[in-house]
Order: sequence, then C-alpha cells, then structure tokens
Amino acid sequence: MADAPFSPADEYAMRLALDQAQNAWLVGEVPVGAVIMRAGQVIATGYNRPITTHDPTAHAEIVALRHAATLLENYRLPECELFVTLEPCAMCAMALMHARFKRVVFAARDPKTGVAGSVVDLFGIPQLNHHTTVQAGLLEEGSAALLRQFFAERREAARARRLAQAAAAGGGDPDPIPTGEVTELP
Ligand SMILES: [Zn+2]
Repeated sequence: MADAPFSPADEYAMRLALDQAQNAWLVGEVPVGAVIMRAGQVIATGYNRPITTHDPTAHAEIVALRHAATLLENYRLPECELFVTLEPCAMCAMALMHARFKRVVFAARDPKTGVAGSVVDLFGIPQLNHHTTVQAGLLEEGSAALLRQFFAERREAARARRLAQAAAAGGGDPDPIPTGEVTELP
C-alpha cells in the first residue's frame, strides 16, 4: 500500500465521490460513491444501488467502471484512477484489477468486506495484481460520518415503526430491537 500524500486534485475527486454517496442515500441505498478520473478529468461517476436496480453487483465502483469502459470503448482502463468512499469488496477489487486501473483511492475502511487490507489484501497479492496501486484514508472521516448517520437514521426509522405497530396493537412494550438487521462501521 502506497502512502504518498494526497494532492488537491485527489481531494477534489473524493469530494465528488462523497456527493455520489449522498445520491445513494437519497434513493435509500447504503451511501457509497465512486468517481473515475483520467488526467485530471472526470470520466465517470457511480453510486451504490443494488436494491433499486435489483442487481447485487451494482456497487458504486462497478457502476462507475461500466460507464467509464463504455465511454472509452475499452475493457482496460490503465490510465484511470478510481476514488471511492469505502474500501472495495472482493468483487470490485478484482474488477478494478481486471481493468488494470492505475490507482485506487478509498476513504473509510470496511472491516466487514474490505479487501484492501481489512479482511484481506487482494491488491497486495502479486499473483493477482501487477497494475493497481492502492491508497487509503483520503477524507476518511467524511465518509465514515455519512455511513454512521445513515445507519443511525435507519435504526431510528425501524424503532419508530415498531412503536407505531405496538401502539396500533393496543399498547404494551414493542418487540426488542432485532439483531443483525443493519451493519455499520465501528
Ligand atoms: Zn464492491
């Protein structure tokens, strides 16, 4: 994992990715956003939308990657850099490596499914990766705060639903909070 300092251009790109994450939230998806840059230019954007599109592969990275590959009419994108607000999962990491991305920069770590060092480091396995440099932690707190707020809001909405159901059923204690309903960062 490279630890070069981030440039103002990097920060600009990650702010765009955070805007994309907000878009995901607006449609009820877990807020993760991605932006693909090439030579300082925005090539494609994407946000997480597996629920709304009934597509388990519709992570922010894949959505942006498909837009970029279509636009550039190439299945390999060796001059492109991807900025994403959450550490990529195994599916996205391998897609980015297949596309031979030059660099992947992510904000927050994902201790549950992140494969850039959290669960495993797929990018660091030389048999898998010859092309893609990874950097972590750019605007990490902004992304982590967004995810925390999203899950807090979702828990609150679930609590309100339970209270309303209990009231409709004639009062009494609502059911205890179910476990395993949501995931969140620590
Ligand atoms: Zn993914």
